[in-house]
Amino acid sequence: MTISSTSLKPYQSLSRQPDIKGVHTSTFWLAEDAKWMQKALKLAEQGAECGEVPVGAVLVHERQIIGQGFNQPIGGHDATAHAEIVALRDACQRLENYRLPLHTTLYVTLEPCTMCIGALIHARVDRLIYAANEPRAGMVGSQLDLSIQPFYNHNIQVHRGLCIEHSSQMLKTFFRERRRAAKKNKSKALIENN
Ligand SMILES: [Zn+2]
Repeated sequence: MTISSTSLKPYQSLSRQPDIKGVHTSTFWLAEDAKWMQKALKLAEQGAECGEVPVGAVLVHERQIIGQGFNQPIGGHDATAHAEIVALRDACQRLENYRLPLHTTLYVTLEPCTMCIGALIHARVDRLIYAANEPRAGMVGSQLDLSIQPFYNHNIQVHRGLCIEHSSQMLKTFFRERRRAAKKNKSKALIENN
């Protein structure tokens, strides 16, 4: 079954962005894909509740979740604990294999960074679906596209823009609240020091 992007609000047209070779800007999504992205968004919310930048990831194989995680570098004292890496570790430990089975899809709420796209290639993820773009350091089209480089012996099929608005809004709200809290703390410190 397919459902249109309009019925899937909040999908937005990405027509302002050039289509990059190997990256598909979909206008229709499978209901199945929407379901898994919703799960990734829930995980992102969990991250936000822990004070982490809200990013969630789900690894799916044969309609089953085989790994999941949310961004947790602060709480985990681990610079590598991005949502994608947490989900990959979860799956690899469960399957007792450093490589994932064929036809595994990663759903993540934000465009992967250099580290994460590298790890996805090493783990042999087949398909990547992400929600929001990361214009500052995204490595699947925003700055570079590492998913289709010929020097890797594995390429990942990429689709972007599923639930883009939901994910972008969650990130914006998180950063706005964080800035507000930082401002409040600064004013409090100034009052105390005077
Ligand atoms: Zn990352």
